[in-house]
Amino acid sequence: MKTEKEKSFIHELCHIIELLSPSMDDFLYIYDFEEDFYYISKAAANRFCIPGHTFHDTEKNFQEFVYPADYPRLMEDLYLLREKGKNTHNLIYRWISVKGDPIWINCRGQVVREDGAARYLVGCINEIGVQQKADNLSGLLGDSSFQAFIGDYANRRPQGFFLRIGVDALKGINARLGVEYGNQILRTTARKIEEAISEDQHLYRIIGDEFLVVDFSGGTLEDAHNLYQKLREKMDQYITENDYKAVFTLSGGVVLTQDVSEFHYSEIIKLTEFALGEAKHRGRNRCYDFCAEDYQQFLEKRNLMVKLRRAVNNGMEGFEVYYQPIFRADNGKIYGAEALMRFSDKEKGMVSPVKFIPILEESGLIIPVGRWLLHQAFDMCSAFQKYVPDFHINVNLSNVQIMKSDVGGDILDAIQTYGLKPETITVELTESGFLESDYRFTDMWHEMKKAGVLLALDDFGTGYSNFRYITELKPEVIKIDRTFTMKVMENVFEYELLSLFTKMAHNLNLKICVEGIETEEERQKIYDLAPDCFQGFYFGYPCPREQFFEKFAGQI
Ligand code: C2E
Ligand code: MG
Ligand code: MG
Repeated sequence: MKTEKEKSFIHELCHIIELLSPSMDDFLYIYDFEEDFYYISKAAANRFCIPGHTFHDTEKNFQEFVYPADYPRLMEDLYLLREKGKNTHNLIYRWISVKGDPIWINCRGQVVREDGAARYLVGCINEIGVQQKADNLSGLLGDSSFQAFIGDYANRRPQGFFLRIGVDALKGINARLGVEYGNQILRTTARKIEEAISEDQHLYRIIGDEFLVVDFSGGTLEDAHNLYQKLREKMDQYITENDYKAVFTLSGGVVLTQDVSEFHYSEIIKLTEFALGEAKHRGRNRCYDFCAEDYQQFLEKRNLMVKLRRAVNNGMEGFEVYYQPIFRADNGKIYGAEALMRFSDKEKGMVSPVKFIPILEESGLIIPVGRWLLHQAFDMCSAFQKYVPDFHINVNLSNVQIMKSDVGGDILDAIQTYGLKPETITVELTESGFLESDYRFTDMWHEMKKAGVLLALDDFGTGYSNFRYITELKPEVIKIDRTFTMKVMENVFEYELLSLFTKMAHNLNLKICVEGIETEEERQKIYDLAPDCFQGFYFGYPCPREQFFEKFAGQI
């Protein structure tokens, strides 16, 4: 039991902690071993998922906010302090933030003993990942100073703008000319921005190669652009003066204060980060003005990326393969099907492949998903061949699969697994996927040819149709895209063009598959051109495997 004197000591100590707390970023604490009681600065409760700034039952409560992998280390050290005479606690480990992220902290403390027995641990916790307040390289204030500055504007929104400036491709400069030269560029950039801004504007170095100009003096979009322009000129001058040793550019992202919905630090950082990212994404060496619509799209895309990743990690849940029939033009019989990827999200339902395929490509997820699709499609093909022995299956390949995985090997393995004849498989590639100068592409291409797998040039008639592709790559099939098919229906010249093209293709022993036939009229008109195959809603919509079997297996 504690004496009154001891109780009052604890009480006093807690009081001192609270008095000191507003003047420091660190968190002071007192841990009473005997009472199994913990007290920490009140501010810690806003940062970490602790049950409150005071609590009992410490071992159980520590489990709630100490990162699980670090918990045993902490327990071990507390045991040594309490039972084994150790006096100094100095441990770097992780606590979980209120948002659920692990945060590195350094917890230091001293044991207070009475008659040799450990009574209290008193000390301080500081976040070791926290940005420095000032940056010695650029001589500017850092991110946490900006955070403190913006904290003063909690309930008001001044008129003005944020201009986030980034040095383009600094990594390359560091690699080529050394880190010291890269640092020199950062110092120069900081100095030039300082020279260019007015007295009412503030400058911070946010991270590595990014700076933030804050204008709360009513600056407009035009003012922000003028400032960016001025900076570019200054940097160009510097580059010339340095005999073009390193030629580099700056990108900028402008966010007006009125664009920030919730006027606080993290929101401002997010929006300016997005704005600068867009400037870089759109080709660098430019200034991008924040646009709420673009930001919404960016968030949706990121959201979709998270869902796609989750789906891939969750046994492809949400992915499905649809099959669209392809018919022979000569006898009207089924020739095969094109496997088309589908993704549905629990909230939004079916998402268009035009939206999610580029995200899968960008993230590399197209590799596992594409591999999964191969297996689904080949399994379906082998099952359908029980009804139509030479039934063909077409799969689309993206160039990411070709460049970054052994998709040729995957196809050959899957052909074996499902016991298919290679000539019943067609790989569809779009022109943009033809990187014939790259060995990975040519290797895959030859591997497929050698094995007898057919190749189709997809989307013909869109973009930059190039006859060289046909003569050099010699695909077995050319798929005429719906946009071309539609033009052919309306325009005599295009109709003649397709007619001649079909004849030419036949002379070269290539097959023509016309996509996007929606009506009987279209079918008839295209039929007169004597193509080899038809594909389109008129013949059948893409549908799930079971439906495809119900519809088309019965027709034979
Ligand atoms: P694509 O390979 O040219 O596929 C044909 C697209 O045309 C399909 O769109 C199909 O539903 C649509 N279509 C077929 N007949 C008609 C018609 O009569 N009228 C109209 N208006 N459209 C028709 P979908 O399924 O939306 O796929 C779009 C694109 O996404 C595909 O174009 C392909 O480039 C890509 N894609 C789909 N699945 C995969 C996949 O598994 N891997 C890769 N890399 N790309 C895929
Ligand atoms: Mg296709
Ligand atoms: Mg196509």
